[in-house]
Amino acid sequence: MRVGVVAIQGDYEKHLAALERSEIDGLDAREVRTPEELAQVDRVILPGGESTTVGLLLERYGLGDALKKAAGEGMPMWGTCMGMIVLAREVIGKPGQYTLGLLDAQVRRNAFGAQVHSFEDEVRMKGFDEPVLGVFIRAPVVEEVGPGVEELGRYDDKIVAIRQGNVVGTSFHPELTEDVRLHHWFARL
Ligand code: GLN
Repeated sequence: MRVGVVAIQGDYEKHLAALERSEIDGLDAREVRTPEELAQVDRVILPGGESTTVGLLLERYGLGDALKKAAGEGMPMWGTCMGMIVLAREVIGKPGQYTLGLLDAQVRRNAFGAQVHSFEDEVRMKGFDEPVLGVFIRAPVVEEVGPGVEELGRYDDKIVAIRQGNVVGTSFHPELTEDVRLHHWFARL
C-alpha cells in the first residue's frame, strides 16, 4: 500500500514519521507534490500547516485538480488541521480562500480563540473504544455539514472529526502523538 503525504508546506515529515512508526504491513510512504506523484499512490494525507499558502500552491500547480479527480475516483484522503480546511467546501469568513470542496462542510479557522493557540486533550472518536489524544494547534472546527457528512468526533461540543465517503478530516494532529491508531484506521478506510 502506497500512502502519499502532500509535501508542499507544513508538518508532512511528522506524518511520514508516524506512518513509519505505525509498522503497517506492506506500507510504502512517500511525499507527493505533483499530479504525477499523486498517480503513484493509493491514498493520501494532507498535513497541518498554513491553509492559504497551500491552497494557493495547490491551485497554481495543478495538484488541487488532480486531488479532486482522484477523490472522485474513490481515493481515500485524510486532512489533519490545515488539511481538513483544504478539503472543505468553504472557509467561514474567507469566501475567496481556495479549497477542494471534497468535504461538504463549512470550517472556521483558528476556532478556539486567540488565547488558546494550542492545547491537547482527549477526544472520543466514533469507532474507537479508547479516546485519542487530540493535539490542537490554531485548530479549525466544523460548523455546518451537508447531509452526506458523518460526524466522527466532538470536543467541547464542537465538531472536530468528519467523514464523507472516502474523505476524512480531523481538526487535530494525531501525527504529533505516539498513538498511531488513526494512521492504522486510515490505512484500512
Ligand atoms: N490555522 C491554520 C490555518 O488556518 C491551521 C493550523 C494547523 O494546521 N495546525 O491554515
